[in-house]
Amino acid sequence: MQVLENISLKPYNTFGIDVKAKYFAELHSDDEIAAFFSGLKPEHLPFLVLGGGSNILFTKDFEGSVACIRNKGINKLIENDTHVFLKVAAGESWDDVVKYAVDHGWGGIENLSLIPGNAGTAPVQNIGAYGVEIKDVLYSVEVADVLARHYRAFRPADCEFGYRTSLFKKQVRNRLVITGICLRLEKNPVLKLDYGDIRKELEKSGVKVPTLSAVREIIIKIRSSKLPDPAVLGNAGSFFMNPVISADDYTRLIREFPNMPSFNSNDMVKVPGAWLIERCGFKGKRSGDAGVHATQPLVLVNHGNASGREILALADDIINSVREKFGITLETEVNVF
Ligand code: FAD
Ligand code: NAP
Repeated sequence: MQVLENISLKPYNTFGIDVKAKYFAELHSDDEIAAFFSGLKPEHLPFLVLGGGSNILFTKDFEGSVACIRNKGINKLIENDTHVFLKVAAGESWDDVVKYAVDHGWGGIENLSLIPGNAGTAPVQNIGAYGVEIKDVLYSVEVADVLARHYRAFRPADCEFGYRTSLFKKQVRNRLVITGICLRLEKNPVLKLDYGDIRKELEKSGVKVPTLSAVREIIIKIRSSKLPDPAVLGNAGSFFMNPVISADDYTRLIREFPNMPSFNSNDMVKVPGAWLIERCGFKGKRSGDAGVHATQPLVLVNHGNASGREILALADDIINSVREKFGITLETEVNVF
């Protein structure tokens, strides 16, 4: 393990923001993770754990230590008649894990195809797409508490999972380091096809009997057609969460905006943030190199050399406009540092 100094983080975040880390290391094994954190001295603090950098916005240099988690390994732990338990090192690419599961005929995560980032980061915001969240298939999360210096396995009930959130995104952010996860996958999966355009796109592609790999391919196709590829246009996916509002607020709003789309979310109502942002005139808008994506306005983009502060200023303008027009306060999904 090599600890480098004054390293640009531009290649390590999908927004492509050019800030520096005072100290930086890539950790390729559990031993390197343990050695790095036990060797941290007060002058190396604070620290930041980084995966694929696909859900982060840097607004300034990081005056501490950035640790990139790169440990690898996908191993079958147990298999019974119905399930396979898969142990995955945190540094594996999430989408490689999805492909591995689909190739083996194990179901549960195919709808989460093509989400960038590390497998170990997936529980941090309880990644979700097309009606599936990782919490649905998670058996446990292996965690190093680097301040208390002990390891522990968290079960889903311990993780405070919610809509794009968990315990790891809240108060213990950057105290608990996820070193691995264990997934409980289905050997006889029931495919989830009722969300959005999945069924329609399967039919359009001539798929009569959907399989895990057909679902994965269709989701990759839909996502690739709608979302900007970070390798081409810097972004961190949805910058904001879709707001979940009370039934009373919904009743008030639908009177004024009868075309407003919505989805039931327990006793609350989820409103697509993209619709709100578009109605405020921000779709495709650009302020310098900071911009709003032209087809998915929930995604903010870096057209070249935007700084994190410029992206954040655009986000603030959007939040203020949406609040003024709809009385809804958008919350940031991306982790801002
Ligand atoms: P990073 O950006 O590296 O880190 C995110 C946060 O987690 C940071 O606060 C970091 O400190 C912390 N962290 C990272 N690793 C660890 C660890 N090992 N232990 C503890 N904390 C850690 N998200 C969805 O939920 N659904 C989607 O459909 C989706 N689509 C996306 C599409 C695009 C084009 C992009 C760019 C992003 C998308 N995202 C989506 C967001 C993002 O990919 C996910 O949140 C992903 O899980 C982030 O992983 P990462 O390793 O890149 O995280
Ligand atoms: P979409 O399918 O056009 O849907 C727009 C919004 O409406 C979504 O945000 C979704 O909420 C909601 N929605 C649609 N159908 C729904 C249903 N049947 N039940 C409940 N809610 C429904 O969205 P999209 O932009 O193309 O994204 C497709 C999926 O990928 C979504 O699940 C989205 O969350 C996910 N995604 C996430 C990110 C990220 O960075 N977090 C980036 C891109 C895509 P939900 O978001 O709650 O699903």
